[in-house]
Amino acid sequence: MAGDGMNQNFIHDFIDEELAPGGRCEGMQVHTRFPPEPNGYLHIGHAKAIYVDFGTAEKYLGICNLRMDDTNPTKEDVTYVEAIQEDIKWLGYDWEDRFYFASDYFEKMYQYAIELIQKGLAYVCELTPEQMKEMRGDVGKPAQSPYRDRPIEESLELFQKMRAGAFPDGAMTLRGKIDLASGNFNMRDPVIYRISHMEHHRTGKQWCIYPMYDYAHPLEDAIENITHSLCSLEFEDHRPLYDWVIANVSAPSKPRQIEFARLNITYTVLSKRKLRQLVEEGKVSGWDDPRMPTLSGLRRRGYTPVSVRNFSERIGVSKATSTVEYGFLEHCLREDLNLKAQRVMAVLSPVKLTITNYPEDKQETFSVENNPNAPEDGFRTVTFSRDLFIEADDFMEEPEKKYFRMFPGNEVRLKGSYVVKCTGCVKDVSGKVVEVLAEYDPDSKGGNPADGRKVKGTIHWVDSKSCINAEVRLYDNLFTDPNPDSGEKNFLDCLNPDSLKVLENCKLEASLKMAKREDAFQFMRMGYFCLDLRNSTDEHLVFNRSVTLKDSFNAK
Ligand code: ATP
Ligand code: MG
Repeated sequence: MAGDGMNQNFIHDFIDEELAPGGRCEGMQVHTRFPPEPNGYLHIGHAKAIYVDFGTAEKYLGICNLRMDDTNPTKEDVTYVEAIQEDIKWLGYDWEDRFYFASDYFEKMYQYAIELIQKGLAYVCELTPEQMKEMRGDVGKPAQSPYRDRPIEESLELFQKMRAGAFPDGAMTLRGKIDLASGNFNMRDPVIYRISHMEHHRTGKQWCIYPMYDYAHPLEDAIENITHSLCSLEFEDHRPLYDWVIANVSAPSKPRQIEFARLNITYTVLSKRKLRQLVEEGKVSGWDDPRMPTLSGLRRRGYTPVSVRNFSERIGVSKATSTVEYGFLEHCLREDLNLKAQRVMAVLSPVKLTITNYPEDKQETFSVENNPNAPEDGFRTVTFSRDLFIEADDFMEEPEKKYFRMFPGNEVRLKGSYVVKCTGCVKDVSGKVVEVLAEYDPDSKGGNPADGRKVKGTIHWVDSKSCINAEVRLYDNLFTDPNPDSGEKNFLDCLNPDSLKVLENCKLEASLKMAKREDAFQFMRMGYFCLDLRNSTDEHLVFNRSVTLKDSFNAK
């Protein structure tokens, strides 16, 4: 079950206190929400937030809502809404029938604003944004607000006119009447409504005033009876305003906001705006490009829900901002795939290997274990013949030191079949090796010589008579800089020109013809791979390398 066994963290300590006798939530069901703005695809940072929101609810046998935070009338796209739902389901979380849009609460939010005006806690202000900035004051110097003492009746009338469309964009705002001298600038009579004659993707032209995030979010939470509104740390300074809104309107419940540190990962950016820029400027093939840190990109790359959830659990939840190594995400994937992936042989940069003493018309089969880590996965057969393919770099005419693979005079084991002795090679006019020659030892069936002599190297191979062709895509970090997002740098200047390598002419063992969408494979010695679900067809198989085998990450 998703979120099972979520470790206790500081958020849970707060919740425990509040559920205890006499606590704020005694006898209540824990109710959280995940509130994405539908203006882009979800990324691995959101996976952390989803894990915290849904995982916390689950830990307390509570519930978690999915809410589209669509109070900004930008050009939001239904495809984003659908993609967000798909990604959350893929991670294994379920909002059941609790799927909401913040824009559905516009009327209620408007009524609460009227309530604030009537209580003398909000007023219509006619300063331009520039004037407001000028009068914002400074540390130790209060802000000025010439309209703050305008009569309640006047504000009410103007606010109603604002709604009715009587004024152009920016002509007026509604501001909370809080504290012009507050050390927290968010409390210096913040704007809570602005005029924008923009069409909204769901409410159309119904509204020309829109609530600001800091006013809208606590109301959304209160309307949905959220008990704990978990969000990232940048909202910490906004919490006093969150609490002020909740305290001063007659909303149906009193949620509490708790902040935790955002996830940052090396060698990538985690901002929808920047990710969108990569897509729109064609730096990647789309939101689901396998190099993208989006959930759709990771999925297409071969990441599993389990690996992403394990990652989210193990990076922990705290208030301390930190940057997690990309290698740790890969480590979590390897761990999962190591248990699940079927082992196969695939030659990515092939050269012909001819077994000159093997009968030309003969073909035999060997039975090989699918996954030594999962004996229950059984065995499959691979065919062997005179004409094979091996990796080009498994042959060296003149071996370097400590090279134990194919070179003239040396014996190697062809994984699971025979021991062969290299006898030479054939080159083309340019001197390039086009064929490696070898003789097999008929008394080494299965790969072990009958006389017990030692054979150091083992290489993988495929039978040219049965293998299939495929395209294989290898990936590297999208950025060359570990922190492409920091300081003065322009993240686009750190793009890695070698982040994608396409190998067109790969030779794969025949069993891969049956590869299915959800299968994960370990190509022996080459890494973990999966079918590319977007570009692969029955006629043209395309595989993505999900992750290499070499684990550079030192666990613990
Ligand atoms: P971005 O900066 O990528 O645009 P955002 O915060 O604007 O992200 P939202 O759609 O508003 O994106 O995010 C929904 C929720 O996900 C918010 O509660 C936010 O705190 C959380 N979230 C976003 N990015 C991260 C991250 N890197 N780590 C943890 N939580 C995140
Ligand atoms: Mg946001």
